[in-house]
Amino acid sequence: MPDFYSDLSLMDFGISAEQGKFLRQVDKACKSIRAHEEKCYLNERLNQKIVPIFGPIGMLGCPVSRQYGGLGYDMLTYSLAIERIGMEGASLRTFFSVHTSIGQLVIQSWADEQQRQRILPNTTTGRKIMAFALTEPAAGSDPSSMVTKFEKRANGYVLKGKKHWIGNGTFAGVMTTYARDPVTGRISAFIVDGDASGIRKVEMKNKIGLLTVKNAEIFFDNCTIPKESLLGGEGQGLNIAYSALIDGRLSVAAGALGVMSDCLDECIRYSKEREQHGSVLAKKQLIQQHIALIAVNLESSRWLTYRAAVAAQELHGYVEKFQRDHDDWQSRLGRNNKEYSRLRSIADKFAALAKFHASNCAFDAANRSVQIFGSAGYKKTNRVARHFLDSRATTIYEGANEVLELKIASQILGKDYAAY
Ligand SMILES: Cc1cc2nc3c(=O)[nH]c(=O)nc-3n(C[C@H](O)[C@H](O)[C@H](O)COP(=O)(O)OP(=O)(O)OC[C@H]3O[C@@H](n4cnc5c(N)ncnc54)[C@H](O)[C@@H]3O)c2cc1C
Repeated sequence: MPDFYSDLSLMDFGISAEQGKFLRQVDKACKSIRAHEEKCYLNERLNQKIVPIFGPIGMLGCPVSRQYGGLGYDMLTYSLAIERIGMEGASLRTFFSVHTSIGQLVIQSWADEQQRQRILPNTTTGRKIMAFALTEPAAGSDPSSMVTKFEKRANGYVLKGKKHWIGNGTFAGVMTTYARDPVTGRISAFIVDGDASGIRKVEMKNKIGLLTVKNAEIFFDNCTIPKESLLGGEGQGLNIAYSALIDGRLSVAAGALGVMSDCLDECIRYSKEREQHGSVLAKKQLIQQHIALIAVNLESSRWLTYRAAVAAQELHGYVEKFQRDHDDWQSRLGRNNKEYSRLRSIADKFAALAKFHASNCAFDAANRSVQIFGSAGYKKTNRVARHFLDSRATTIYEGANEVLELKIASQILGKDYAAY
């Protein structure tokens, strides 16, 4: 079938009545946490109500299989939930993106059964929150240049190095991290408990936004971990990290939709109330231009993101089936598996397109919204001011947008033209 038709097949955005009910519960949870989230933001504190409010409705494991305590929902339903949470701000939304998209889903996709049993049920209940520790001071956009290393011992591994900017990092009960074998130069992935011996976490202060997100520097000072900590095979680290970033980018895009929706709601309300020069702002053509552009960007981002969610679901569905059908799936999934490669490259492309476009549009929407509010939008007590501060990070993390542009171009032109 030509690509054109297979692309169209990624545009089925239907959800069931049960999923609709879940999304209404997410909406209710968002409304009930709103005031506390604002208070925490202004005090730069972690919102301790996230787990008690979102845990009972299943949002701490929305796309995680039911056998591990999750809801087992598809990536579109999960993205719609993330979109709604995004309306409360990228700060709140980042908690879930880290815990689930680049946390639990990495375990679900790459861990063996024992590892999944050990980790996932603890995380779907919220007893343990997850983090993803990839970035280092000298290895940001290019994780392949990482210097954190591991040494093999009789019963496990010793990690030495430093990661930084790790979301949920100060309190995560479990994380994946990535380190290089100094002998072979290959990078492997590891599952590390938050209280492993030799791990030290230092909160990163003075951020310009995402003020309820707790980012940490994580030091592995001869951090000793058992051999069961290896995730996937040795040397699979970058493959695993890059696959995690597909889900991470999708969640950033979905959250960006929420930011734009909320900006639009706030601007509609305020521009109909605020009068200057004898009429409300909503009657001024230049204000209408801002509002129209936010709406255009929201709708164009929305369809890209939903399409990316369906593509991600096709990939996850394939991986789950492959795991069920093959006992030796771990050694076979990423290697010479044409169908996996095909689905992964489609999901990768759409996630990059969606994240690039939606994050740029969300920051633009927040910027226009602050402009519409004028001085009233210049205080952190205002929702659009918080969107402005928070959405700035979304064009940087989960793949900085310049790098995503290059990635999109190389996906179109071919690998020989990769310009990064
Ligand atoms: C708020 C926040 C939360 C984060 N959370 C996490 C987390 O939970 N876990 C984690 O592992 N990491 C996290 N990060 C790190 C994030 O993923 C990196 O910041 C990001 O990958 C960019 O790396 P860098 O900051 O080192 O910038 P650099 O890689 O130094 O890039 C700087 C600039 O150069 C551009 N650039 C880089 N290479 C090229 C190129 N080849 N061509 C053109 N332009 C280029 C980039 O686009 C960017 O604009 C977080 C970062 C922030 C700010």
